[in-house]
Amino acid sequence: MRINKYWNLLAVLPLLIMFTYCDNVQEEIVPLSVEDFRFDGPLGSQGAQIAEIDTNHFKITLDHAPGNPQWPNKLNFEITQNAKGNNLTLEVEFDGGPSMSFNEYAQSWSYDAQNWQPVHWEYGRNESPQYDILEFDPFEQDQVFVGTQVPMSFEDAVSMKEEWASHPDATLYTIGESSQGRPLYRLTIKKGDSEVAPEDRWAHYFANQHPGEHNSQWRMVGMVDWILSDEAREYRQKNISHFIFFMSPDAPTHGWYRVNEDGVDMNRSYRAEGANREEQTHEAYLWQKDLEEMMESETPVTTIWAMHTWGGIVEPLLKTGPEMGTQVGSWEEFKEIMETLDEDGLIKPLAVREGPPRYGPVSWSDGPHEQFGITAILCEGAGAFYTKQENLDSGVVLIKSIAEYYNQNLRN
Ligand SMILES: [Zn+2]
Repeated sequence: MRINKYWNLLAVLPLLIMFTYCDNVQEEIVPLSVEDFRFDGPLGSQGAQIAEIDTNHFKITLDHAPGNPQWPNKLNFEITQNAKGNNLTLEVEFDGGPSMSFNEYAQSWSYDAQNWQPVHWEYGRNESPQYDILEFDPFEQDQVFVGTQVPMSFEDAVSMKEEWASHPDATLYTIGESSQGRPLYRLTIKKGDSEVAPEDRWAHYFANQHPGEHNSQWRMVGMVDWILSDEAREYRQKNISHFIFFMSPDAPTHGWYRVNEDGVDMNRSYRAEGANREEQTHEAYLWQKDLEEMMESETPVTTIWAMHTWGGIVEPLLKTGPEMGTQVGSWEEFKEIMETLDEDGLIKPLAVREGPPRYGPVSWSDGPHEQFGITAILCEGAGAFYTKQENLDSGVVLIKSIAEYYNQNLRN
């Protein structure tokens, strides 16, 4: 018996040595193939086609948004496997015409879809609006996510909202369902046992209309995190805050930048004459009906913020409401508060928009301003931000400014 064991060990020894050796030399790297790419995950790009050109070199042809042949879907995808050790060159094109481009903002990439790094287009929209290139250094992990701006999937927003809703002052309302059956969530932060009567509180409504403008969504995350912090206890006494992260929640998995399934530009979906199921696209009708119910409540909305992204730093554009210069300071005081708090230069000076509305009353800033006469802010910009942190920080500056400006009880 003893001899048998000895000989068995000898037979196994060369195998053990071989495995140890193999472990120490580099694992064999298999180049990426088209099967490793996925375009229908939580961050996707509907209809995107991928073809291999050379080793780790692919061409992606983007498809367009529903009903809008000239609007490319954004480049969002996942490498599901085999990325480790491979570099990557992506040529990206869209041949739907020059009216909208896919490369106006930086892209981001991540190993976990949480911690994002910027990756910049080789040419950019001005130089080459319909064709561009992304280059990636060799990856260190097998799974990789790529998306536009600092991405946020609908699922990301849901998990954050569920966590926020565990705070005693926060409630997650479902006001209906999207065309594809996703819940339309409104997060409302309202101190239940406030010493301030509902009629004496201010209310602020923050919503994202264009689902691909993710930087504006991270701006709102910064706001929510601050509102739920101990520092904001007094703000929560005096103010009610409503947040809508996706007016078009079906968009991120398809890469739709501006629209819903009907192909309606969500910031051209308001109806200042009043919500109307026949006249409006599905989600916009439900959102506007919800807003109209709030306007009838004992704490109607004081300020409505349409959260967007365009080039440069954050750019708030104001239509003044009746409380400015009467129940609170002048709008210039609001501007000064914002400038003082903005130590890192993340926000352009608050400006009043003069003249006729830029987008007309079909937008979610001018529309409610026309319908209810309330303060409306078109909050643009942040295309110059390449990190989640800058967007979060800009949101904190905005909400702290609101807290300081609206620091009196409404009827005082
Ligand atoms: Zn927008």
